[in-house]
Amino acid sequence: MKRLLCLLAVWGLILGLAGCKNTKPVQKTVFAMDTVMDLQIWGADAEAAAERIASLLTDLDRTWSAAKEESLIGQLNRGKDIALTEEQSQLLTRVQQLSEHTSGAFDPQMLSVSRAWGFYEKEYRIPTEEEISLALSDPKWDLGAALKGYAGDRAVALLENSNVDCAILNLGGNIQTYGQKADKTPWQIGIQNPGGSDYVGILSVVGTCAVVTSGDYQRYFEKDGIRYHHIMDPETGCPADSGLASVTVICRNGLTADALSTALFVMGLEKGTELWRQSNDFEAVFITTEGEIYATAGAALSGCEYEVIDR
Ligand code: AMP
Ligand code: MG
Repeated sequence: MKRLLCLLAVWGLILGLAGCKNTKPVQKTVFAMDTVMDLQIWGADAEAAAERIASLLTDLDRTWSAAKEESLIGQLNRGKDIALTEEQSQLLTRVQQLSEHTSGAFDPQMLSVSRAWGFYEKEYRIPTEEEISLALSDPKWDLGAALKGYAGDRAVALLENSNVDCAILNLGGNIQTYGQKADKTPWQIGIQNPGGSDYVGILSVVGTCAVVTSGDYQRYFEKDGIRYHHIMDPETGCPADSGLASVTVICRNGLTADALSTALFVMGLEKGTELWRQSNDFEAVFITTEGEIYATAGAALSGCEYEVIDR
């Protein structure tokens, strides 16, 4: 049964891609933000748009990557007084607003904590309690939980000003769709099984939309049979232990989708559901560590059994 679902989902994903227009898309692969990104764009100026998006992704990486000493964010973290462009200060304001909106579950200043666990140098370790409280008292910018979503929004703005029909961008697991497919059918996006490399279900989205997943399987290390993943609970300074294995957020805005997927993962099913009930701009799919699937009422999920979360 599981195998069948997997095949269905992959097939769905391929169907979604093939339907954009009768032509083949321009495809481009970019390595940025420590991940592989795939661009597929249909339309007359698709080639030029792909080039422009590729350099946008590289520029954003250069500016906002906390791991790069010379980046803007690296300099801010070293206390340098830098004049920010309007766009740059807007991004920092927006992430701070999202942090407040999620009661701090999304915290764009968790770099010292991630570092303490070795996620930046990729020298994984379990820090002592003292090291954790020291890291928690040392806020340093890290937009790793929001940058790919923001990149999706910037790419959409660029596509809107290009002569292209539609596009689907896989920004390291963050999916950003643009425009409507020629056959008017929805885009179909597989949700990865947190416990394997197959898919557990298919999400259908129409038009321009971000579909972003945060999961405990995306980056982690194991010690003595315990998995330590990369999404930190800002209250404890430890990998969030909320009973969730992944959260997928569907939202028109990529930055919001990205910040929320991280925040909901930290908050867990109950608090995450509460936040959804207070909002009207996103839908979500939660997968628990037990493999149960819950989807908010507006999420168009198919190909799997799940419980619907109502308002
Ligand atoms: P994501 O995969 O979008 O959920 O983002 C996870 C990444 O964001 C991590 O690799 C860290 O760089 C950073 N991060 C970890 N925990 C948090 C948090 N609670 N809030 C914001 N960023 C975080
Ligand atoms: Mg995120």
